[in-house]
Amino acid sequence: MSQDTQDPTILCARCGQTSPGVESPHFPGDLGKELQSRVCRNCWTEWQNLEVMVINELQLNFMEPRSMEILVQHMREFLGLDKAAGSGE
Ligand SMILES: [Zn+2]
Repeated sequence: MSQDTQDPTILCARCGQTSPGVESPHFPGDLGKELQSRVCRNCWTEWQNLEVMVINELQLNFMEPRSMEILVQHMREFLGLDKAAGSGE
């Protein structure tokens, strides 16, 4: 039962499953780390599909910081990152 090649698993903030986290979320810094430690790969794939639609629909431009903020907001909402852990709301 060698497990040394197994990926570290995380508790996903969106689906509540314990599974391998996102490998390379392509966000730098704390947000990237948060994604890696709180989002599973399935949910990340789902977000990436939705992300394309959000970008097209809102006509986001990554050269503008404001567009990036809007996209991150949608992402956090979709992935459930802003839900406080263990809160009863
Ligand atoms: Zn998940």
